[in-house]
Amino acid sequence: MASDERVDRYPFAEIEAKWQRAWEDAKQFEVTEDPRRPKYYCLEMFPYPSGRIHMGHVRVYAIGDLIARYKWMRGFNVLHPMGWDAFGLPAENAAIDNGVHPAVWTHENIRNMRTQLRRMGISYDWSRELATCDPEYYRWEQLVFIRMFERGLAYRKRSRVNWCPSCQTVLANEQVEAGRCWRCDSEVEPRDIDGWFFKITQYADELLEWCERLPGWPERVLTMQRNWIGRSEGAEFDLPVASRDGLKIRVFTTRPDTSFGMTYAVLAPEHPLVDTLVTDADERAKVAAFRQEVARESEIERLAADRPKRGLRLRAQAVNPFTGREIPLFLADYVLMGYGTGAIMAVPAQDQRDLEFAREHDLPVVVTVTRPAGWPDDQAYTGDGIVINSGFLDGMTVPAAKRAATAWLEERRLGERKVNYRLRDWGISRQRYWGAPIPILFCDRCGMVPEREERLPVVLPEDVQISGKGGSPLAEVATFVNATCPRCAGPARRETDTMDTFVESSWYFLRYCSPHHTGGMFDRAAAEYWMPVDVYIGGVEHAVLHLLYARFYTKVLRDLDLVAVDEPFAAQLSQGMVIKDGAKMSKSKGNVVDPDDLIRRFGADTARLFSLFAAPPEKDLDWNDRGVEGASRFLNRIWRFVQTHRDELRGAPRRAAGTLSPAGTVFRRTIHETIQRVTQDLDTDMHFNTAISAVMELMNALIDFERASVDGVAGAERAALLREAVEHVLLLLGPVSPHLAEELWAGLGHAESLFRQPWPVADPAALTRDEVVIVVQVDGRVRGRLTVEAGAAEGEVRARALADDKVRPWLDGRQVANVVVVPGRLVNVVTR
Ligand SMILES: [Zn+2]
Ligand SMILES: [Zn+2]
Repeated sequence: MASDERVDRYPFAEIEAKWQRAWEDAKQFEVTEDPRRPKYYCLEMFPYPSGRIHMGHVRVYAIGDLIARYKWMRGFNVLHPMGWDAFGLPAENAAIDNGVHPAVWTHENIRNMRTQLRRMGISYDWSRELATCDPEYYRWEQLVFIRMFERGLAYRKRSRVNWCPSCQTVLANEQVEAGRCWRCDSEVEPRDIDGWFFKITQYADELLEWCERLPGWPERVLTMQRNWIGRSEGAEFDLPVASRDGLKIRVFTTRPDTSFGMTYAVLAPEHPLVDTLVTDADERAKVAAFRQEVARESEIERLAADRPKRGLRLRAQAVNPFTGREIPLFLADYVLMGYGTGAIMAVPAQDQRDLEFAREHDLPVVVTVTRPAGWPDDQAYTGDGIVINSGFLDGMTVPAAKRAATAWLEERRLGERKVNYRLRDWGISRQRYWGAPIPILFCDRCGMVPEREERLPVVLPEDVQISGKGGSPLAEVATFVNATCPRCAGPARRETDTMDTFVESSWYFLRYCSPHHTGGMFDRAAAEYWMPVDVYIGGVEHAVLHLLYARFYTKVLRDLDLVAVDEPFAAQLSQGMVIKDGAKMSKSKGNVVDPDDLIRRFGADTARLFSLFAAPPEKDLDWNDRGVEGASRFLNRIWRFVQTHRDELRGAPRRAAGTLSPAGTVFRRTIHETIQRVTQDLDTDMHFNTAISAVMELMNALIDFERASVDGVAGAERAALLREAVEHVLLLLGPVSPHLAEELWAGLGHAESLFRQPWPVADPAALTRDEVVIVVQVDGRVRGRLTVEAGAAEGEVRARALADDKVRPWLDGRQVANVVVVPGRLVNVVTR
């Protein structure tokens, strides 16, 4: 241990344990609904119980706790809960690898992480803790599933999925890397299977509209949501297939104005019409081979802008109805079946992907909008301009041509105006064990039947073999699968798919409002008191899926008349990553800092201070050991100061009153300016790092004042000012480093917790600057006037007098022999 480390240590281990116990014994952060007080709901995204917390957790929980404790002090009734997103794949993988049951593994991890979190001293209301794998939790989403099923919002359909033949499971698009399984590296195959979907597309317009009504959200997150929903207006119309009577291909375009520039058309390889279009066995074989090739690519790869686009030209030709000309017809990987009609008209001059494809396949490019002078040929032009080369559309602007082209199609009954969405329904089926069972049964006589509500929950059985092979392990559990039909009482089979864990995380924030409620998903009055969440803090990686699903699910609950809430999160804060040596902290990179180790060496208060001070919340936090040591030194400095001045501080009044000395006035102003700055930073900007640096500056000013005031300031005034400053350092720093602040606060003789104190308000009287006018004489004659602050230092007044524009000409060419300063009145410059 370095010597300065030894000197620098206050007894944080003892203090932190003491206050964690005290807060818990006093149930200080347990809350109930209280309509007389304004509420504040502060929520961090709940963690997956992986086993240990990492620095990313420390950062997000430190941010949440700062906000929660600050709001407590501002007089709010603060709900700040914690729980566990406890279902999911890692538990199942651990079971496969180590033979531990997922439930055992999960609960052990929860215990470990709860202990770790408690050591951080966060102001959670632990009485509201929940775990989503608890049947008392997921029973309510089974109930809502049934209500959604009855209204057609949950439905079953066959769809194409990525299938890993070795893992025997469906993979999400994100789990396919270069056509291979992310876990076992096997080649992924397309497969059509039955699965459950939530009809999120029914809410596409509302989800989009509300993006304009969430001013507390970061713009970049809203933009990602808008892009994901991907609303586009355009036209849908038919391209006749040449010499094939009556055969037509339906295309969707957002740019009907560019139709005269359509030089080819493209079908998604999976398009059902392809089999009709092929002419013989040879072409059929080519198509089959091409389809197989494309199937190996994930959707993300297929849509990526920076890769060559694969294509296969068919023998059949299409007809452009605008020009009457025949155009080539292709299959290409960059067109997807799930979007629009699965077929597009290609206009290379006005679409970059079409242009790249056209250049790779030597297809003509017809420009239909005037481009700015010097426009490069390898760039599609998508801007506005005057329409050219387009028959009856020539000379129009782009918006006018869009309307005219659509009207032309509608008049001829070739097509119509159409709105399309990129958003597709949410596939919630997982062929997994460790998830919430879907409460549906299959009866030979009655078909698909939901479980009776009074028989819920459909409990996940514990006696199961998890091998990682052969689809859902639930299918092997006879006691689970074989059940009674709720309608005819005959034999029925239970659904063996479980729900995507994003379903549980779509409503946990509502459950926190009344976590022990047994009469339904939540108590309506409690939910309507606490909701919406006032600030929701979590990683930007959740900008789309989780946040969109939670918004959708809340709207569904509203429409099921369970709660009158339109949007779950009033404000959202996306914190950056924790990086070290230029890379995100991860086990594989070997750059992980263990929070336990950090807390053992420096204490939780230092870990929290460092992670809040090192970067503003939305930026990446670059880890460095020197920053941690600096944070520790700062806390130790406060500690030492209070210890060494204990008697003087305890004997003093809490506020300096009456007329102060000039030095005392300036110092008191620094205290109150700091209150103002910190409050502003926390309240409006969430600039936690600059708030902390203001407190650090106050601490410096305090130490300077203490040294300078030994002789110059009367003892009673000095002691009162020191106390006023120290108390404010503790109050302002409390939400950041609560244990140290609470301990020193108590040490000053306060019986009540620091977090029951009102947040300080700057004293307007302390903020005003008293100014005086000082006369400047040169050799006895008045030459200028200065306005300076009352109590300004002599040196400063002297320098300003000599630099004054009115005074300087009288000093030109002379030597200053002497300067006499009469404080508050006069400066006399004597020249020789
Ligand atoms: Zn696999
Ligand atoms: Zn039946």
